[in-house]
Amino acid sequence: MKKEAIARKEDLPDEGQVSETTCKVCKAQIDKLSRKINKESTHLIPLLEKPMRTYNVNFPVRMDDGKIRIFSGYRVQYNDARGPCKGGIRFHPKVNLQEVMELSFLMTLKCAVVGIPFGGGKGGVAFNPKNYSKAEIERISRAYIKAIAHAIGPDKDIPAPDVNTNSQTMAWMLDEYESVKGHKAPGAITGKPIEIGGSKGRQYATSLGGAIVLREYLKRKKQALSKTKIAIQGMGNVGSNIARILAEWGAKIIATSDSRGGTYNPRGLNVPKLLEHNNKTVATFKGGEKITNEELLELKCDVLIPAALENVITEKNAGSVRAKTILEMANGPITPKADEILEKSKIEVIPDILANAGGVAVSYFEWVQNTTNHYWKEHRVNQELEEIMVSAFEEVILTAKKEKCSLRRAAYMLSINKVLKAEKLRGRV
Ligand code: GLU
Repeated sequence: MKKEAIARKEDLPDEGQVSETTCKVCKAQIDKLSRKINKESTHLIPLLEKPMRTYNVNFPVRMDDGKIRIFSGYRVQYNDARGPCKGGIRFHPKVNLQEVMELSFLMTLKCAVVGIPFGGGKGGVAFNPKNYSKAEIERISRAYIKAIAHAIGPDKDIPAPDVNTNSQTMAWMLDEYESVKGHKAPGAITGKPIEIGGSKGRQYATSLGGAIVLREYLKRKKQALSKTKIAIQGMGNVGSNIARILAEWGAKIIATSDSRGGTYNPRGLNVPKLLEHNNKTVATFKGGEKITNEELLELKCDVLIPAALENVITEKNAGSVRAKTILEMANGPITPKADEILEKSKIEVIPDILANAGGVAVSYFEWVQNTTNHYWKEHRVNQELEEIMVSAFEEVILTAKKEKCSLRRAAYMLSINKVLKAEKLRGRV
């Protein structure tokens, strides 16, 4: 069979990226931190350099034109010492095992930083949903979950939304999972619609968590939110909700962008109008001047919020960043080399594993509600999220002060020590 007959070109995973099984991000970070890991745990570090389990599934799906295509999907369960693995599923043409593995490592640390009883996992299917109909995406979602159904579950590994997936995707996936298992299991997947066991507040939880962390950070700097100019890259669920929340709290959102371009207004954009702007891109918004994504990253502002994909700030553009602080709402938006450049330029980074942990924190509340069958009011969800985010932020800040290190290093140190401690207490090592 010809290649085109089984997959559209843009869906083929990048060649040569799927064989590596050591997590490079993990290794790079742990090498930097090794002296800061509790002495009695240092011999356990190699345990964290590789994922516990990886799955690569290839499955057929019938397209609307009647033809069959084969899709590649992944699920990585990085570590489960602190509880069942937890993490989203993304649909993107560049998804591959290496990427999913690195993201599952970040999930392991994220759950540990905010102290929720989960390990880390991540999944993805390599295709571009923009090129498929809704019915095709539903069949791909169902076929992927069917292929990994034996490996996941409420006490094993719990998926959630990530890039290009949403509550509707989770609804299809849960329905498929439950029909494979033959019984209801709402706690098997989080980020579901409220009507089928989702949690109030989950939709904007990642953004609210990040906004809380930024508010606490600025409070310590004695900087009023009303005097803070913010640029946001990415207007998906996370970017648009954090723009809304921060604008409601009085901050000035001076620029936003999506994959087609951005809009800039140094006096502050009218965010409610921008969110109403019913067009495919913010670039055509009349209340600002048109800018490119690259220009947005280099704007002079107080806080830059990358809220789209990983690796957008690299060694090539890190030197041109003019923000005072970066709040990482995407997972891994700054490469390790760029991180070093930013540190030298004294640009402070609030790391992803803390900044965007609000989503998984409310996923945990959703799972608790599913397992107890008792559903919370929105106010309670947001109150408990506030407590979790504020105390995680304080723990990271105190560690950074004590160790005289960056917030990222402090967050890594705290979370790696928590995971290694759990491994030891279990007596696995
Ligand atoms: N995809 C989100 C993240 O990267 C949420 C994960 C979850 O809720 O399990 O944090």
